[in-house]
Amino acid sequence: FRCSSKIELVKANTTLKLNKLYEKYPNSEFYSVENFDLQIKDKEFIVFVGPSGCGKSTTVRMIAGLEDITEGELYIDETLVNDIAPKDRDIAMVFQNYALYPHMTVYDNMAFTLKLKKVDPQVIDQKVRAAAETLGITAYLDRKPKALSGGQRQRVLLARALAANPSLLLLDEPFTGVDAPTQTTLTRLYRELAGEGITILMSTHDMLAARESCSRLCGVRGNIHLDGPADSFSLEQLHTWLHGHDIEEAQGHARTGFTCAGGALDEYGHELPDSCASDHSLSPAHTAATGGAR
Ligand code: ADP
Repeated sequence: FRCSSKIELVKANTTLKLNKLYEKYPNSEFYSVENFDLQIKDKEFIVFVGPSGCGKSTTVRMIAGLEDITEGELYIDETLVNDIAPKDRDIAMVFQNYALYPHMTVYDNMAFTLKLKKVDPQVIDQKVRAAAETLGITAYLDRKPKALSGGQRQRVLLARALAANPSLLLLDEPFTGVDAPTQTTLTRLYRELAGEGITILMSTHDMLAARESCSRLCGVRGNIHLDGPADSFSLEQLHTWLHGHDIEEAQGHARTGFTCAGGALDEYGHELPDSCASDHSLSPAHTAATGGAR
């Protein structure tokens, strides 16, 4: 399928500030998220990447308002939202365990939240159809979810989120159960939406998907270890970091420049004039030579 944005942005200016966020679940003895500091600019397409269990979903769920924040402050557009209910945060979400209402058609699924908000039925119809066209699902509007494939359902979930004209879109592992061509098309759409003014935050454990999709990549392990433009990290470096080896080196390289097959890159992905040989690429000696980890 092909898709391109047909939705109309209501507000195109969203920033997010996470100030030393901590999450300790009531039934847990340890912190799932610790000292998480992050500022997200308007129109950024940011991806949290990291191993399973490192706290990506918990952080995204705190932003959505689905988990109480144990400690720290969360600001959306400079407003402290720690105690603001999810429905009042002007955020749309597509989460891996989100479901469609099985007894409703695709159209009714998409219109449901807007009806609850008592939006004018004509406006609802226009928003639902624009979002359906964006995701290429207009032909399925009268179907029930069980008559859709996994990829089509994922597109309906995204269309339902977009119908609400969000200024911030949260995607938690959005490629689970999605085939490769659909993933490519959706990635292109996310970039387009970010370019048009929707700030997007996605979590994934998939390094390749992360690196190829977003504008800014954050490597997460309870807090942020890596942070920079997606193409400034080589896949080799991300794998090294993901599998837990040489974390300090990976951090050092992320912050001071690191070497990939083509030569040394600075933290913005530009090639350095005197490229070091790749055999020094991830060695402690090179880390020390370039300034080391923080
Ligand atoms: P990720 O999304 O990176 O896979 P999560 O945020 O889901 O990681 O989980 C981070 C940690 O918090 C894990 O150790 C997980 O077991 C724990 N955790 C997640 N949800 C809960 C919960 N509802 N209660 C207790 N512990 C939880």
